[in-house]
Amino acid sequence: MAKERTLSIIKPDATQRNITGKIIDRLENAGLRVVAQKRLKLTKEQAEGFYAVHKERPFFNDLVSFMTSGPVVVQVLEGDDAVAKNREVMGATNPADAAPGTIRADFAESIEANSVHGSDAPETAEQEIAFFFKDDEIVG
Ligand code: UDP
Repeated sequence: MAKERTLSIIKPDATQRNITGKIIDRLENAGLRVVAQKRLKLTKEQAEGFYAVHKERPFFNDLVSFMTSGPVVVQVLEGDDAVAKNREVMGATNPADAAPGTIRADFAESIEANSVHGSDAPETAEQEIAFFFKDDEIVG
């Protein structure tokens, strides 16, 4: 298995409930290492840019409003098969479909306010990491 990096975001519903530590605990317990992290409030432009792939989807405007409604914690996670491993520990997009014991099953409030983001493929991970971090901000 190759060591890999992925982009994670702890979303505003989770920062609002002060459960970032609980989520990071799940990630670390899965063997993922936080090699970069910052807390910020996304601007509308940042949220629109980050989710540009979804701009024609009916949920886009609500998603941008949600993602700018409070602080987020953006992270680079590193580990063997980090992209797939993170997706596994996150669980399905809709918490109603998320496997028991996953972050979304245990913490998400709705299909929108689902507590975490994780890149869906190694190529996307590279782009998403570069969206938020400079190389020298990532310390492996
Ligand atoms: N989303 C939503 N309604 C939907 C589908 C998605 O509000 O019907 C939001 C949700 O916050 C999700 C994000 O849009 O995490 C991105 O959707 P995607 O399908 O890429 O899911 P993910 O990769 O986050 O599981």
